[in-house]
Amino acid sequence: MEFSFQVLKTDPTGARLGRLTTPHGVIDTPAFMPVGTAGTVKGLTQEALADLGVQILLGNTYHLYLRPGHELIRNMGGLHRFMSWPGAILTDSGGYQVFSLSDLRKVTDEGVRFRSHLDGSEHFLTPEKSLEVQQALGSDIAMVLDECIEYPAERGRAAEAARRTADWARRCRDYAREREDASTTPGQALFGIVQGGAYADLRRESARRLVELDFPGYAIGGLAVGEPHEMTCELAAAAAAELPAARPRYLMGVGLPEQLSDYVACGVDMMDCVLPTRNARNGCLFTSAGRISIKNARYAADSRPLDENCSCMVCRNYSRAYLRHLYMANEVLAAILNTHHNVHFYLDTMRKIRQAIAFGELAGFSAELQARLEAGHP
Ligand SMILES: [Zn+2]
Repeated sequence: MEFSFQVLKTDPTGARLGRLTTPHGVIDTPAFMPVGTAGTVKGLTQEALADLGVQILLGNTYHLYLRPGHELIRNMGGLHRFMSWPGAILTDSGGYQVFSLSDLRKVTDEGVRFRSHLDGSEHFLTPEKSLEVQQALGSDIAMVLDECIEYPAERGRAAEAARRTADWARRCRDYAREREDASTTPGQALFGIVQGGAYADLRRESARRLVELDFPGYAIGGLAVGEPHEMTCELAAAAAAELPAARPRYLMGVGLPEQLSDYVACGVDMMDCVLPTRNARNGCLFTSAGRISIKNARYAADSRPLDENCSCMVCRNYSRAYLRHLYMANEVLAAILNTHHNVHFYLDTMRKIRQAIAFGELAGFSAELQARLEAGHP
């Protein structure tokens, strides 16, 4: 299948209902993408992901490049075949992890020099290298290398990072065009990434520069890094307004369940976040009545399901008391069941958001969701 995107309906809030077609299947948008860092969504089998209705997941280029190595994955037929996942995959550029995980990073216009967090070995990540790795992995959607900065950052620094990101985006695009055949997934798409820190005008300028480069889709990066939620939405909306309506928009690294509809209302079609999986392993569970910390003693003899409004396998079969016991006893099954529920909860929230957009009622849906969560947190 060829990469394409269709907007099926637009809600009064600006939210879009759409359909993204990739070489590995169709994705209903707005879509939530679980994070499968090292070729696995921690705690879930690929069969469980399919049962949960996952249509696209994320792979981290940095982790897969360091271990087991992209050439090994190329020789195994690409990431889909290696991990036995028939659905779509989006890979990040590796940039975010290089900037946040590794040490000794030195950024120049040429690329980023860094040391592996695993063994301290030295590596040089350039825009071209990032694409070479992502072509070996054969994701359906690859990302350009971008410069990620901290929040807050001074205007000069944000402008410089946005300028470098645009230069790197051009190099990534040219590399991908020249070596189209090198990808283990024919038809792999490449998305540009908007940067610009917390400055709306820099965000708009960054978006316009990327649009000139003509990518099949655009991401908005460097947000939800500590700034207030309202600011995240304003900056995302400012960037989205400059992006072509007919191309998919991906807001990177967000967010809490109650925030998803706000981002969708900014005109965003795709999101990813480690929260449902990482929090699950820490015993933090998302429910329709707010968050639950399953280790709390109050659940020790609680025979109710985790979430009475949830239809997932965990809520149909197990009690809060059992989940608490598994967690306290450090059982492997705790991470498996908690992750299953949390990922189901995110996907189900997205399903409800899509339904609300189909009826043109996203604003009402969001207000109801907020009220319910606030009632759960007196
Ligand atoms: Zn559940």
